[in-house]
Amino acid sequence: MGERFAIGLDLGGTELKAVRLSRAGQVERFLARPSGVRETWETPLASLAGCAMGCGCPGVIRPEDGSLVDRTAHLPHWKGTPVRDELARRLALPVAVDNDANLAALAEHRLGAARGARVCVAITLGTGVGCGIVIEGRIFRGAWGGAGELGHVPLGSGHSGCACGVAGCAEAEASAAGLTQSARALGLEPAEAGTVFARAATGHRGAMEAVERFTERLGALVATAVDLLNPDMVVLGGGLARSGDVWIELLRRAVARHALPSHVGALEIELAAFGERAGAVGAGLLAWDRFGG
Ligand SMILES: [Zn+2]
Repeated sequence: MGERFAIGLDLGGTELKAVRLSRAGQVERFLARPSGVRETWETPLASLAGCAMGCGCPGVIRPEDGSLVDRTAHLPHWKGTPVRDELARRLALPVAVDNDANLAALAEHRLGAARGARVCVAITLGTGVGCGIVIEGRIFRGAWGGAGELGHVPLGSGHSGCACGVAGCAEAEASAAGLTQSARALGLEPAEAGTVFARAATGHRGAMEAVERFTERLGALVATAVDLLNPDMVVLGGGLARSGDVWIELLRRAVARHALPSHVGALEIELAAFGERAGAVGAGLLAWDRFGG
């Protein structure tokens, strides 16, 4: 069974406050909005009833009904699962569901490193490579929710298998898994991503080479998105961004090598402001956008 939590509401004369509270009493999320008590008798009730859940989810999420399209390697027991309706039934709350990388992109565009960007590509670097696209303030989802699966562009060498089952995906090399694999091949132990970056920062040759290979592959991938979408902002988040100061400049150079000069001149490539929290923040934004009135 998943971790349980409660949503607590506090209706005040000025603000309605909402927290997500863990069993141990830890405030995991806090939101406040005008309670509207001076407007009409109905407004505060509407504010209360407007409290809702947003949820980020791996895989392709159908925009119309919040269901998982087909399947994703990250959720091994699900296929075509009606995620939104299942959650809404269990919580007895309105629920909105979207792809986790889409929500990270929304958070970075609305509140984070990509504020003001016309076209924002937000890439989440964790076990895999996630990607969300925000164009003129709106998430670009594609025909049925599958836009932005950048990690599965066939830019890999094909030597490493991808969790999706297709050979040659870039994700196998341009992710934490790819970095640790090439570090191991260069004789570096332990070869977790954090260790590799830390050793590279101290000038360790093998670690530096592994980081260069990783940024080269990731750079080719980012350049693909840059040439295709002409973003003015690319944001890098997820677990690997914690060590971003070690590799961000290498990545900028790799993108400049691979993308059209016309597309990189005014392009900004920055680390995400919300780091690993971006998806959850975006989920809260989605809930407010859909149900907040
Ligand atoms: Zn793949």
